[in-house]
Amino acid sequence: MTIEKLAKDLQQKKISSVELTIDYLAKIKNSKLNAYITICDDLALKQAKNADIRLANGDKSQLLGIPYAHKDLFNTLGVKTTAGSKILENFISPYNSTVSEKLENAGGVILGKANLDEFAMGSSNETSAFGVCKNPWNENKIVGGSSGGSAAAVAGDLCVFATGTDTGGSIRQPASMCGISGIKPTYGRISRYGIIAYASSLDQAGPMAKTAKDCGIILNVMSGFDNKDSTSSEKSNEDFTADNTSLNGLKIGVPKEYFADGLDDLVATQVQNAIKEYEKLGAEIIEVSLPNLKASIPAYYIIAPCEASSNLSRYDGVRFGFRAGDIENLDELYVKSRTIGFGEEVKRRIMIGTYALSEGYYDAYYLKAQKVRRLVANDFEQVFNNADGVDVIMGPVSPTTAWDIGSIKSPTQMYLSDIYTLGVNLAGLPAMSIPCGFDNNDMPVGLQIIGKPWSEASLINIADKFQNATDFHNQKPK
Ligand code: GLN
Repeated sequence: MTIEKLAKDLQQKKISSVELTIDYLAKIKNSKLNAYITICDDLALKQAKNADIRLANGDKSQLLGIPYAHKDLFNTLGVKTTAGSKILENFISPYNSTVSEKLENAGGVILGKANLDEFAMGSSNETSAFGVCKNPWNENKIVGGSSGGSAAAVAGDLCVFATGTDTGGSIRQPASMCGISGIKPTYGRISRYGIIAYASSLDQAGPMAKTAKDCGIILNVMSGFDNKDSTSSEKSNEDFTADNTSLNGLKIGVPKEYFADGLDDLVATQVQNAIKEYEKLGAEIIEVSLPNLKASIPAYYIIAPCEASSNLSRYDGVRFGFRAGDIENLDELYVKSRTIGFGEEVKRRIMIGTYALSEGYYDAYYLKAQKVRRLVANDFEQVFNNADGVDVIMGPVSPTTAWDIGSIKSPTQMYLSDIYTLGVNLAGLPAMSIPCGFDNNDMPVGLQIIGKPWSEASLINIADKFQNATDFHNQKPK
């Protein structure tokens, strides 16, 4: 069920929000996917009742009464907010993130807090302190990460839509692995206030849903200037479902580096077929080049850990979160609380970041990475803005489909799988993932569509036109 369809049913009183909510809560309780860390029974029913009252009064807000899964990285007033970490295992948030607030005001019904990689660090949901989330298409496979619980909940019909965050691919990659649609907006489009910080110069929230159109409806609610976030854009909001970009003559850039070594053949075929579909619909395909693509991996995996090492210094066992017992002095309190509270991957990144920022290494690592970041961003600018610049870029989201849980043991091998998503964050661009096919094991493949800054409305429309012409987004796991 899409938001588009359900909003009509709710308004025409074919179903009530309370009925819908009870149904979803029951499904969540019967599910073995581990998509949720916390289920919000009472709050959900309270919000559903309120929504039914507003609906009865003729309120036509599009998210009114619609049940959703909220990534457990968004502070939610009075609700446990863990970031997937033991260090926040019992943390009840005393405030709402701006996104939480906006969704509540719009009348969304929060079913629960979705599972994720610890502090959003990961590509498979395996770093969550609350257990791995399983892929609804095959429970032995990963869901992707870090917004894995969100993607699994949408694909597994455990909510109508979900929120995600994307620092290096965390909306697009799990969307691709689970066969759903997701958009990472331009940096600054959605307020970061109250989202537990990973890497602040890259973090951006976004919607995950069954269709591109639904993503637009949710983005209408999530986005907008917020004076509580110093990098929030003052750009006025627009209707992200209203664009009508003609595919006739649309220039689609396909970076040759995307189809080089490392890309799974089956993924390449599905993505190329999707691009051919756009050609059939009138678009012009142009080969382009992003020469610094490979350098985006080391640049990101220096910059993100540097920012993380700074952001995560606030978890000290004193102000909030887990506090180790049996300690003799303050230093020991810090060390023990952080040693026990953080998982292995988070500690690895804190160490990498602290090292790269330390005196003597700062210039060689952090500063160098920032320069490479500029080069990566310049590549995109070139492709979009040179004399015969393209309107959008298309390619894969991930080099492979979802892999077996536990099969990638090396952290650096996992980092390499982020090759097609990281550059977009380094450049601050908007990008979408939509389903475009399946591999031989019926695992979904995603198509990535990257746009110029602030072109979300057109991206959503371009994706919507593909979904009007194809059926991949309607496929469901058995
Ligand atoms: N997989 C990337 C990482 O581990 C991206 C995560 C994200 O976007 N939050 O950092």
